[in-house]
Amino acid sequence: MYLETVKTMNVFSHPEFDNHEHLSFFCDPETGLKAIVAIHNTSRGPALGGCRMFPYATDEEALRDVLRLSRGMTYKSALANLDLGGGKSVIIGDPREHKTEALMEAMGKHLESLGGRYSAAEDSGTSVADLRVMGRHTRYVAGIANRTGFDGNPSNGDPSPATAYGTFIGLKAAVRHKLGHDDLTGLKVAIQGVGNVGFRLARHLREAGAELWVHDIHQDNLQRAVDELGARPASAEDILFLPVDVVAPCAMGAVLNDASIPKLKAGIIAGAANNLLDRPEHDAMLKQQDILYAPDFAINAGGIIDVFYERTDATPETVRKHVDTIGDTLTEIFNRSDRTGLPTGDIANELAEERFQKHTAGAGLAPMRLAGTG
Ligand code: NAD
Repeated sequence: MYLETVKTMNVFSHPEFDNHEHLSFFCDPETGLKAIVAIHNTSRGPALGGCRMFPYATDEEALRDVLRLSRGMTYKSALANLDLGGGKSVIIGDPREHKTEALMEAMGKHLESLGGRYSAAEDSGTSVADLRVMGRHTRYVAGIANRTGFDGNPSNGDPSPATAYGTFIGLKAAVRHKLGHDDLTGLKVAIQGVGNVGFRLARHLREAGAELWVHDIHQDNLQRAVDELGARPASAEDILFLPVDVVAPCAMGAVLNDASIPKLKAGIIAGAANNLLDRPEHDAMLKQQDILYAPDFAINAGGIIDVFYERTDATPETVRKHVDTIGDTLTEIFNRSDRTGLPTGDIANELAEERFQKHTAGAGLAPMRLAGTG
């Protein structure tokens, strides 16, 4: 009777397994912690990736998410030429209801037990403050240190400024490739989502002379872009379909789908949001419509680059120069796509695989000092 009600959860034969090196399932009944850490590939170095907290309906849903996200980190870091592997963790639970300091501390203890094979950073449902609580018990948390940022401004570890700058550099590379110029004066850009990344991207674009249209579901964020940057507000229905040069989705994923792609009027899609394509084949649909798509995990790598350098003695200039290479990587992707006729997302995957398969592990990520150990 009992057996009939148990649903099997495949791991090694899971459709998203993709030869993951390591999976850990953590449970701490005292704090209610249930977490999974997935380490996809460490051929370039120890894994780094966000720790997401989400009220997954089933364990299967959590497993699928962590496997997909972790694999994505291998590709993102390899493409950004970082000595890092790919990994991710998920905590099963509603951050608004189940998050406690004790739970975060328990997560920290579990991360420490992995001995540095994986380091966690903030992700949806977790904050820098949560990561700092985990850091009481582990050296393997990232994106939490106060330091001078890549742009010379004080940073609390938040990767958003570097993500926004990298997206700006990538957008410029796309404009150069498609429109043949570096000058952004008068370039028309529509930005969906002007939060941490989108607003900063808008500011870079404004400073470069671009004309902006913005939409955000939060009126305050929308108004800030209108008041401070002179952006024009657009409706939720219109923002992706305006007759502009570039659409920059900086809010949520899966916005490039069967319904939206035929209605796009911009020639370039270059935004920071993760998992922009609803399905992998949407990449080919964009190419068929002669739309240049800057693959999300190539253009939004500024944040992971910034976090990587947190534990090193690198100067802000070194970090900025590394973020600048996002432009070169995208140019290589665009050129190869032109030569082969393959969509840019396929080329980005291919290039990332070349980079993580050939690479022998580098110095990787140095551990953080445990909080309180000086
Ligand atoms: P954020 O939450 O600060 O900003 C997102 C903004 O989008 C918010 O202002 C929100 O109100 C708005 N928004 C949400 N749904 C919307 C919708 N349907 N239409 C219009 N606006 C909407 O998040 P963020 O850190 O700026 O990240 C933005 C995107 O970039 C996310 O997809 C994130 O995964 C991705 N990303 C962020 C980083 C980073 O360093 N923060 C790094 C890589 C990728």
